[in-house]
Amino acid sequence: MIPILDSKRQYAQIGAEVEKAVCEVLRSGSYILGPNTKALEQELADFIGCKYTVGLNSGTDALHLALRALDIGAGDEVITVAFTFVATTEAIGIVGAKPVFVDIDADTFNLDASKLEAAITPRTKAIIPVHLYGQPCDMDTIMDVAKRHNLHVIEDCCQAIGALYKGKMVGTFGDFGCLSFYPTKNLGGMGDGGLIMTSDEKLRDRVVALRNHGGAIRYHHDEIGVNSRLDEVQAAILRVKLQYIKEWNEKRREHAYYYNQLFANCPDVQTPKELDNTYCVYHQYTVKVPNRDAVHKMLQENGIGAMLYYPIPLHLQKVHAYLGVGKGSLPVTEKNTEMVISLPMFPELTKEEQQTVAKTLIECIEKSKTAAAV
Ligand SMILES: *Cc1c(COP(=O)(O)O)cnc(C)c1O
Repeated sequence: MIPILDSKRQYAQIGAEVEKAVCEVLRSGSYILGPNTKALEQELADFIGCKYTVGLNSGTDALHLALRALDIGAGDEVITVAFTFVATTEAIGIVGAKPVFVDIDADTFNLDASKLEAAITPRTKAIIPVHLYGQPCDMDTIMDVAKRHNLHVIEDCCQAIGALYKGKMVGTFGDFGCLSFYPTKNLGGMGDGGLIMTSDEKLRDRVVALRNHGGAIRYHHDEIGVNSRLDEVQAAILRVKLQYIKEWNEKRREHAYYYNQLFANCPDVQTPKELDNTYCVYHQYTVKVPNRDAVHKMLQENGIGAMLYYPIPLHLQKVHAYLGVGKGSLPVTEKNTEMVISLPMFPELTKEEQQTVAKTLIECIEKSKTAAAV
């Protein structure tokens, strides 16, 4: 069995360090908004190259509170993609705004920036580009459109910590960048966690207040906030892991290029394309294959932990039925949804395992063709 992700292998390497850090927190008596959260916020701001970060409960909250801090709510429209995890549009819904979908680019799986301008209306307030699978979006075009139309930009970096666009980290282009520390992410905690990045002091202050019941000073409440604080145990774990993130992202890239080589002579497997001048961090290694559902089933039967991210595009989810964006509205998104399959990808993956994955995938595709012909 080759899993899509094996968190235990990572823990075997860093477990002793993590346990020491956690024990220190447990003994310290300081569990919420203590020294580790503060230190992590500074260390991440330094790593990302932004002025401030604010630790939160989840990536979903990061998106939600970024929208709140920009005063986006009822009557407003926010442009994003339907080819992402539901949290992106959920955050838009939570603040009472309406998601407006733009189709994706078939090669990069990301927002097709050439279609952005056509989606703008007088109600549009913001764009949420999602750096899906760890691949940066076309930020030059997105920022250019945003500036010309006076729109905010919130980058969903939940899958892309450490990814670079023209030498600059994702999350530093827009008003906000949002991170998730869900355990499976490139920088994952051992529970839930998230964080916003910004270089605007006022926006930072607003999120600091919003995450703690809407007030910067204890028992002084200026607006309805939430309880969304990163806890000290998670912050301590993440501080240990942050020291490895560069190395881990490098390994993911090596694995991606090795997969590309293994599939080089197999035209049935469309390997991921990188945008020029980007550093992709391969949260997922996602290929496109024919007869995808049959191939997926066969892979599972053969012990390969492949997954579908995501099996149903967001415009066709029940939660968004009210938008009236029906089947056929986003042809590239829909086509990709039917073809994508994500293969095992984590820093500790071995070359031998990758060879097995590649060989099995190629065999399964061949078998699926015979089955389809019968
Ligand atoms: C994981 C993820 C989120 C949400 O993060 P949580 O921490 O699970 O709330 C949002 N957007 C994308 C693209 C994600 O992958």
